[in-house]
Amino acid sequence: MATNQANTNRLHPEEQHSKFWQNAHTYFNRVYDQMGLDPTWRQYLSSPKRILTVSCPVRMDDGSINVFTGYRVQHNNARGPFKGGIRYDASVDRDEVMALAMIQTFKNALVELPYGGAKGGVVCTPKNLSMAEKEGLTRRYTSEIMPIIGPNQDIPAPDAGTDAQTMAWLLDTYSMMVGHQELGVVTGKPVSIGGSVGREEATGRGVMNVLRAFLKTKGKTLDGLRIAVQGFGNVGSWAAKLLRDRGAKIVAISDRDCAVRNDGGIDADDAMAYVKKHRTLAGYSRGNGDEISNQQLLMTDCDVLIPAAMENTLDAEVAPHVKARIVAEGANGPTTPAADEILRENGVTLLPDILANAGGVTVSYFEWVQGLQNFFWSKKEVDDELQKIMEKAFAEVNAKADAADCDYRTAAYTIAIDRVNEACRLKGLFP
Ligand code: NAD
Repeated sequence: MATNQANTNRLHPEEQHSKFWQNAHTYFNRVYDQMGLDPTWRQYLSSPKRILTVSCPVRMDDGSINVFTGYRVQHNNARGPFKGGIRYDASVDRDEVMALAMIQTFKNALVELPYGGAKGGVVCTPKNLSMAEKEGLTRRYTSEIMPIIGPNQDIPAPDAGTDAQTMAWLLDTYSMMVGHQELGVVTGKPVSIGGSVGREEATGRGVMNVLRAFLKTKGKTLDGLRIAVQGFGNVGSWAAKLLRDRGAKIVAISDRDCAVRNDGGIDADDAMAYVKKHRTLAGYSRGNGDEISNQQLLMTDCDVLIPAAMENTLDAEVAPHVKARIVAEGANGPTTPAADEILRENGVTLLPDILANAGGVTVSYFEWVQGLQNFFWSKKEVDDELQKIMEKAFAEVNAKADAADCDYRTAAYTIAIDRVNEACRLKGLFP
């Protein structure tokens, strides 16, 4: 059996994350220098405004008490209230959450949402927690970060390891504490209690929208395109399904436990049903393809690679062997700066995270607006508005890349930094 050792495991998690924080700065500084912006604002734009660390004691099913560490990092709110997801994972640490919050600030600016950027995380292994333990943890974490969140202050959402149920507990805890239902405090909620239709699939749908818009500039379509997806969670599975529904062929998928390749095409619906039932892809290769390693998946023969798992998975060791001609970043920060350079030199087109995966926060914005107004949209309205925003953002990035003769990541960051920079400059310093 192939070993499914992801290349992310080469470094100790803490080393990886300080590297991730450095990577976020490398991308930021590279563009900031090229833009010749006023150096006065550099530190302000690249530093988190607030970092909260909390301890969450939780009664476990066996009667013991476990204390979980959680974070909420608010990066910048010059353009509006903070907004960003909450991650539950064993490898969460302060640096990782800081990097994700910074990326979120520029992502929200790129798609012109009236938000700043934030991120949260709790150090835990969600699959080892029972529902009752997960609920206890979520309620305690919510009450601990309560002083700094709110519908006009900071609005959490799901990220890796959290889902609509987690957001329902967050909504209820916050609402119980303020004494009334507060729909606008969190997005990614179940539709039956004020969530938005289309939010669950929104990040994958945004990846599809951006990829399709890029292909159009080359006179191509999704039809017959061979796609490999690393990470078959929320983002990866929906991207695979929506792309397959539009004629692309999914030749490889993976999760933490297993990677599968099938040249004849993988049925994304079937794989999603399998993961829903078994909570893992392990065993899926039986009858559905050949088992490969996670590293082989990144280097597999395909036209488009979608890294949709975690940060730093595409590094300098893997990058020279990537066969895809297009990389669409479903995850946040999957490509290290060294790998980014190698891919560019090798003529690979990279659709960067702050553009390609912005569909999730965009529909979160729609959900927030619907919740504040208690007026709900149809699925078609959500999908159409999302498509408009993603296509507009891609067109702007494409035009900037053409005008400046630069890659898409540089173009996207140039637009985003300019917008955040302008908001900071216009507002000035307090007091
Ligand atoms: P998820 O928890 O639903 O899924 C993550 C998937 O990646 C799982 O299948 C997991 O097994 C797999 N995985 C983890 N580490 C892996 C590795 N090293 N190799 C292969 N597979 C691995 O999480 P998600 O919500 O889909 O988020 C995935 C990424 O997308 C994260 O970087 C997240 O920040 C980013 N993102 C998520 C959203 C959203 O709306 N959920 C929005 C924008 C960006």
